[in-house]
Amino acid sequence: MDKISPQGYRRIATEEGWITKELMDRYQALLERGDHGDPGFQSLWGFFGRSPSQRARDLLERIQDMDARRIADMDATGIDMQLLMLTSPGVQMFQPDEAVALAASSNDQLAETIARYPTRFSGLAAFAPNAPEAAAQEIERGVKKLGLKGALVNSHTQGKYMDDAFYWPIFEACEALDVPLYIHPNTPSPQMVEPFLSRCLDAAIYGFAAETGLHVMRLIVSGLFDRYPRLKIVLGHLGEGLPFWLSRMDFMHAGIVRAGRSPGALPLQRKPSDYLRENFYYTTSGMAWEPAITFVQQQMGFDRVMYAMDYPYQYVAEEVQAMDALPLTPEQKKMFFQTNAERIFRL
Ligand code: MN
Repeated sequence: MDKISPQGYRRIATEEGWITKELMDRYQALLERGDHGDPGFQSLWGFFGRSPSQRARDLLERIQDMDARRIADMDATGIDMQLLMLTSPGVQMFQPDEAVALAASSNDQLAETIARYPTRFSGLAAFAPNAPEAAAQEIERGVKKLGLKGALVNSHTQGKYMDDAFYWPIFEACEALDVPLYIHPNTPSPQMVEPFLSRCLDAAIYGFAAETGLHVMRLIVSGLFDRYPRLKIVLGHLGEGLPFWLSRMDFMHAGIVRAGRSPGALPLQRKPSDYLRENFYYTTSGMAWEPAITFVQQQMGFDRVMYAMDYPYQYVAEEVQAMDALPLTPEQKKMFFQTNAERIFRL
């Protein structure tokens, strides 16, 4: 843990994807049957799981390799450690019993991978949101028994959002264990995906941010963070666009509450932007762009923004070099690449 790289900081990449063979086989079976009811899943994994294109075949190899190839890719780009998370949509395509079993099995496999490369890998626990009590137990097992550093959810679960009280045991567990919940994107839910699909906008190009941003706004205005004030949420992709909206979301939310416009929008203890500033952390996954990173650092705090690559979807060596060249003090750069992640995930 105390190895210091030549540049003066360790590069920890905090949103890096992987998948088990078992889960990939189930995805293929779902695609084969075609009766899963999620057009976003069909679009995403119909491409990456089945397309003969070079892009899809490379990704499929990289995302399943937990040994030499992944380590070689990390070495080639100067990544010291990956924080691993089960790629989207994880176990959330499956009914509760199956999802619970798949989450446990993938967490066991993740712990084995980390044990083989303890200085190169760390990870977050998958869980089945549609079985909240079992999910809470699995998060606790993942953290306490397997040494995982928090939990991970891929936005909606079969069109359901976690602002419903049904999901409270999950937040309760994260708060009690004092570990972060990473809310990673999924393709837009079946209710909203159609206009994205016909122009191939459903995934990382834009749909992920629209879906995940909506999910987070639902959590905030539901009062979730008044109920669980110590909850820590991590968002990728520089906050899915939300940091750009801070001023307008506060103005409009105040007006909605004042007018009593909707029973779904009740008063909050803090402004919406306060929750995003105080309960949330941000990673740069796939957003290696200086003006956007600088904006989020300035608005949310240099101690809340962490580096992520989004391997293997955005495996680009030049982006790491661009991040090395960010206009930061040596201390800020070390926070960005290393010490924020060590503190927030207790690495
Ligand atoms: Mn990602």
